[in-house]
Amino acid sequence: MNITPSDRVHPRVLIIGGGLSGLSAAVELAGRGYPVTLLEQRQHLGGRTYSFVDEVTGDVVDNGQHLLMGCYHQTRRYLKTIGSESRAFLQPNLRIEFLHPRRGPATLSCPASPAPLHLLGGLLGLNSLSWNDRLRLLRVGLELQKDPMRVEPQLSPLTVDEWLTSLGQSPDNKKYLWDVIAIGSLNDDPRTVSALLFYRVLRSAFLGARENSSLLIPRVGLSELLVDPALKFLESRGSSIRMGVGVDGMEVREGRVRSVRSGSETFEVDAVIAAVPYYALDVIAPGLSTPGEKQSPGEETAFESSPIITINLWFDKPVMEQEFVALLDSRVHWVFNKSRILASRKEEGRLQMAEGRLQKTDGRQYVSLVISGASGYVEMEKEEIVRIALEDLRYVFPEVGHAKLVHSLVVKEKRATFSPTPWVESLRPSSQTRLQNLFLAGDWTNTGYPATIEGAVMSGRKAAELIV
Ligand SMILES: Cc1cc2nc3c(=O)[nH]c(=O)nc-3n(C[C@H](O)[C@H](O)[C@H](O)COP(=O)(O)OP(=O)(O)OC[C@H]3O[C@@H](n4cnc5c(N)ncnc54)[C@H](O)[C@@H]3O)c2cc1C
Repeated sequence: MNITPSDRVHPRVLIIGGGLSGLSAAVELAGRGYPVTLLEQRQHLGGRTYSFVDEVTGDVVDNGQHLLMGCYHQTRRYLKTIGSESRAFLQPNLRIEFLHPRRGPATLSCPASPAPLHLLGGLLGLNSLSWNDRLRLLRVGLELQKDPMRVEPQLSPLTVDEWLTSLGQSPDNKKYLWDVIAIGSLNDDPRTVSALLFYRVLRSAFLGARENSSLLIPRVGLSELLVDPALKFLESRGSSIRMGVGVDGMEVREGRVRSVRSGSETFEVDAVIAAVPYYALDVIAPGLSTPGEKQSPGEETAFESSPIITINLWFDKPVMEQEFVALLDSRVHWVFNKSRILASRKEEGRLQMAEGRLQKTDGRQYVSLVISGASGYVEMEKEEIVRIALEDLRYVFPEVGHAKLVHSLVVKEKRATFSPTPWVESLRPSSQTRLQNLFLAGDWTNTGYPATIEGAVMSGRKAAELIV
């Protein structure tokens, strides 16, 4: 097949992979008048960010609760381009409520002062910590203000935990603040993940404009926010989006990709963006020798995946009021009140059992619980995971003991992100490859950030710009 834009003014660009990196590249190119062809092996777009309708309740469920931040500038630009910015809510100021089973609630609430004073106010007001510990937090704040050119080289070999220790952070400071942020943003144990990436996450969030640190909360399913509007945008600009088409090889001659193959179909190309995960690239371009997935423990020349588990629970009556909370000293890290979050977009209802399908009536509540860095749980039976979730939830929301669980749905994403250990940074490839017209995109390429939506969107845009 010859993918020829009608006028042939632009090169024939083929994008492999319809996750956010591929979609971001496609949107960038199409927005500049380059119609693209995008091939996605699955029957739906979105990669690791998608939603689906739960058959029992009829509710829209995400493959995993995602949180974005005000500092996701590239993602916000992408949302604006595809016209879905208003489908996510940006907190006016950062506010996170923490619940501890015995110590009770605490809040990180940044006042409406200019940055970085807002951070100072937030840290000093964190009432889960003693005054001495709150003052210790400021040492991290001061470190963030220093010149990154001086700080970053010292951080490269360190883990988050080692760095925090070197800054005099107490066990409580780690447990009740820094670890929560580190596990949430880097998706693995702070004792194994990169201090450098954590430092960059903190700098992006807490320096610059005050809104950088605010959370950006999707008010709709992930597909409605990030994927469906992108598809519309692309189709309206003459791009061709093909689903259920997996690429299994390419023809390379004289240092350039000449064509891409999917089964018996061949696509002639001028430029290609491979926006697939590290474990999928070898099938497409075996000769590139980019690092793949770790096969044995201790191997430091490959990526290791870290899972995320989302436990969706439906109760017959409300068990929590807050929109979302972070749990401390708990196996579950976050709880999202989906009924409330989605309420502004959708009529709320209650559930009744009828012919095996739950029907909406008033009063029910749908909540999503997240376990990040979930390697210790991912092989457990789903029933056991639900049991753990209910136990942890009951500690902080006693109403759970009086409510009836009417439905549950556990989503395990085994390869949610790569585990960002200090040495992994050196493995992450740049967008350019040794083939002149083949570019890489994906959250695992060297974006400088952990595996996030922002990293994926950023990488796609960068690959597109290299082509332009
Ligand atoms: C449960 C969960 C929770 C998360 N929470 C957050 C969060 O709160 N905040 C945040 O910022 N990030 C979060 N992330 C991370 C974020 O979702 C990812 O970083 C991002 O979606 C990665 O996008 P990508 O395009 O790089 O890769 P993917 O989304 O993996 O896209 C790659 C695509 O390539 C396709 N593909 C592979 N091989 C081929 C082939 N041969 N031919 C054609 N197509 C192919 C795949 O099917 C896939 O659709 C979370 C991830 C998960 C799973």
